Amino acid sequence: MKIIDIINEATAGKECRFAFEMLPPLKGDDISTIYRTIDRLIRFNPAYINVTYHREEVKYVERENGLLEKLSVSKRPGTVAISAAIMARYGVEVVPHLICGGFSKYDTEDALIDLNFLGIHNVLALRGDTLKGEKTFQATPNGHLHAFELVEQIIGMNEGHFIDAEVESISRTDFCVGVAGYPEKHAEAPNPSIDIEYLKKKVDAGADYIVTQMFFDNGRFFDFKERCLKAGINVPIIPGLKPFSTKRQLTMLPPTFHVDIPEELTARVLKCADNKEVRQVGIEWAIRQCEELKAAGIPVLHFYTMGNADNIEKIAEAVF
Ligand code: FAD
Repeated sequence: MKIIDIINEATAGKECRFAFEMLPPLKGDDISTIYRTIDRLIRFNPAYINVTYHREEVKYVERENGLLEKLSVSKRPGTVAISAAIMARYGVEVVPHLICGGFSKYDTEDALIDLNFLGIHNVLALRGDTLKGEKTFQATPNGHLHAFELVEQIIGMNEGHFIDAEVESISRTDFCVGVAGYPEKHAEAPNPSIDIEYLKKKVDAGADYIVTQMFFDNGRFFDFKERCLKAGINVPIIPGLKPFSTKRQLTMLPPTFHVDIPEELTARVLKCADNKEVRQVGIEWAIRQCEELKAAGIPVLHFYTMGNADNIEKIAEAVF
């Protein structure tokens, strides 16, 4: 089923559904680490499960002759395979993330063909972060610089246009496409208005819905929704939520994800004696956020698990 149909069904039925995001295991770990997390969350009947994509990292290895060899290494490979395994095991829709970084248009086409063969017809189209050591995002040769171009390529395949001009018998794909939105502005955008203009470009290119970056103040989300509407963005906007879990996140989350931590949450976290107490504060804060979003008629709440199920499980128990 298409994610947009699931969202529309939930909206029509005035339901609020649970969805969450998984990270592929670190290279060397096996898939049971993924299953252990899902086994704890599956009882909340997730609308779908996202699987993130992790770009390669550049590594320098010293050769015998003393020269350095530049290697490209992926620490969390397997997004497509893990998505297919989750779908087969749990019978739940999956949304693999697809990024521009590291992909030529041909690589993207091949990845989408693999997904299509596997019966996966939902993707989240992203640009991906800047490679470590690079100041600004660089497109891969013959790749995409912005996520809207990736959306255009996917929608092109839905219309039967393939990059490889030698493809003879062309059949169409049928992907539902989600994209990312930033209630508190993307870090690189010069101002919030232009960020929304660029977001509209992704929607105009054919994106079916938007999933947001995490936020801890619902006011930022409601304000973002309103600004999107004013800009002519009419697709559903799904809030992305991450429960606060360590004291260190007070200084780590703002620069990494370009989000503010509300004063009340900061004060409560600072009063905690240890991270066990912080986790409890994070759970209570997220439950409060969820209840308000639910009351506002939001059809799906998307959780960033960061591979950790225990706090998400407690929140889901209280909310769904
Ligand atoms: P874009 O939409 O291309 O925007 C990037 C920047 O370029 C913005 O500042 C935007 O304003 C600007 N821009 C857009 N279009 C134009 C234009 N035409 N001209 C000039 N400027 C423009 N990263 C991963 O690597 N893997 C993941 O699995 C992953 N999952 C994510 C899931 C969600 C829900 C979210 C919110 C983010 C995720 N990210 C992931 C992070 C994301 O890749 C980064 O935030 C990245 O920096 C931007 O991606 P984007 O798709 O929003 O890019």
